[in-house]
Amino acid sequence: MSKKFTVAICGGGVGGLVCAIVLSQYSDIQVDIYEAANQFSEIGAGIGMWPRTWKIMQALGLDHDLAEVAIVPPNGVPQVAFTFRKGDQAEGRNFYALNTPGGLISIHRAHFQSTLLRHLPSSCNAHTRKRLVSYTQPARRTRRSMAGAAALPKVTLYFQDGTTAFCDVLLGADGVKSNVRTSMMKEMASLARAQGDAAQAEVFMRAAPARWSGTSAYRAVIPAEKLRSLVPGHRVLTHPMIYFGKDTQITVYPIAHGTLINFAAFRARYDLENTTLDAPWVQDVPRDELLRDFHEWEPEVQALLQCVQTPSRWAVHTSAPLGAFTFGRVALVGDAAHAMMPYQGSGAGQAVEDAYVLATLLGHPSTSIATLPRALQIYDAVRRPFAQHVAKVSRDNGLLFTMNYPGLTLESPGEDVPRKLAELSSRIKKKWEWAWESSVDDDVERAVRMLEEAASRS
Ligand SMILES: Cc1cc2nc3c(=O)[nH]c(=O)nc-3n(C[C@H](O)[C@H](O)[C@H](O)COP(=O)(O)OP(=O)(O)OC[C@H]3O[C@@H](n4cnc5c(N)ncnc54)[C@H](O)[C@@H]3O)c2cc1C
Repeated sequence: MSKKFTVAICGGGVGGLVCAIVLSQYSDIQVDIYEAANQFSEIGAGIGMWPRTWKIMQALGLDHDLAEVAIVPPNGVPQVAFTFRKGDQAEGRNFYALNTPGGLISIHRAHFQSTLLRHLPSSCNAHTRKRLVSYTQPARRTRRSMAGAAALPKVTLYFQDGTTAFCDVLLGADGVKSNVRTSMMKEMASLARAQGDAAQAEVFMRAAPARWSGTSAYRAVIPAEKLRSLVPGHRVLTHPMIYFGKDTQITVYPIAHGTLINFAAFRARYDLENTTLDAPWVQDVPRDELLRDFHEWEPEVQALLQCVQTPSRWAVHTSAPLGAFTFGRVALVGDAAHAMMPYQGSGAGQAVEDAYVLATLLGHPSTSIATLPRALQIYDAVRRPFAQHVAKVSRDNGLLFTMNYPGLTLESPGEDVPRKLAELSSRIKKKWEWAWESSVDDDVERAVRMLEEAASRS
């Protein structure tokens, strides 16, 4: 079948692979995916997924294979997704059960990735060792010149190995350090400068690099057997937990059918938020560093820390809220568009939503090579406000988890701690509800309606 256009996806993480899977369902679109690493692989430990994302997995027919490797509570049935516990004291105490329909779906990242790869059709050309450095696209064309759209010049991709490739649409799914985002911001800045708006150009340039959030995350996977041998009935063996502390927080939950425990311990320095970190973003650190940071915590947390062999310390980076996820025939997806704090376990879920909405728009029969920018602008209009809202509430939840939220800081000893913890819990739930109370279907319907209305007007 002849192809209506070619799509290049830069980056083979969650966002890039889901884009490729959805787009490959349309036989009139040629898909190439370019990954910088030697092979498609996932780093990190577990990944939490909420019903909003799970419904997309079902729509794509991935749910059965994922259920083989994930912990999937019964659909829609109320579950304790996380128990909240104050842990930064000699004797911890539970203070809230976050009950949600469908609970938390938890998966080992490597299992998630290998399932996605298995579902990548052979029609999609997958290229590894292809690190994109930058791209160029032809200057925007007027409506009149679109008459010759079939011969529209290609977007050119430049790779670190000196090679180039061409496409009609480029999707930047290259993560928080995105080179596609940097190229796009430069393009937008140079247009603003050409239009005499130096201040706007400066805004675009400032949005290009990722920013350190001031937060570090110690990440590890703990063998459940090891924890069981230390504390046979440890609650984390069966229950996802969020431990709260001043400027610190720990999220732990079972993965791989309970044989492993995903461990992430956070230390927040909000005074350093949005600064530049002059050190490696990810590094293995001695366990003593982790023990030192959490030495005042309760015994059940100490047991978890004892089970961590070599933690890796991640400097959590975010991206500035962008004024656009798309420019011309280039669009950003996932962390490249909206790298966020991990306090709602939703960065990957939002990448999946981007991919699903965008690929649906590109695959729609009314999208042709001539109308590509219009489809991308509708993607931007639908996805940008939502993803940026999730980024905002994820940050808010971090302030609440680490007792930095204005008015709820638990600073002085005489405070009404139970009341404040109750208030913290109710705010966290309210900010997180979108993940299990809403569906992406409404956004997909809205996006398709906008596309069809635009097509009928032109
Ligand atoms: C501590 C922590 C815990 C988290 N927990 C959760 C969770 O429970 N649930 C959740 O949904 N999210 C979670 N997240 C967020 C989630 O990991 C990310 O949002 C998600 O991985 C983003 O996917 P992505 O495909 O956009 O980017 P990435 O996963 O970063 O993938 C980008 C890909 O692009 C490749 N690449 C990079 N540069 C180039 C280039 N120049 N050329 C070609 N390829 C390139 C990379 O090698 C990589 O394969 C967490 C994050 C952190 C830090």
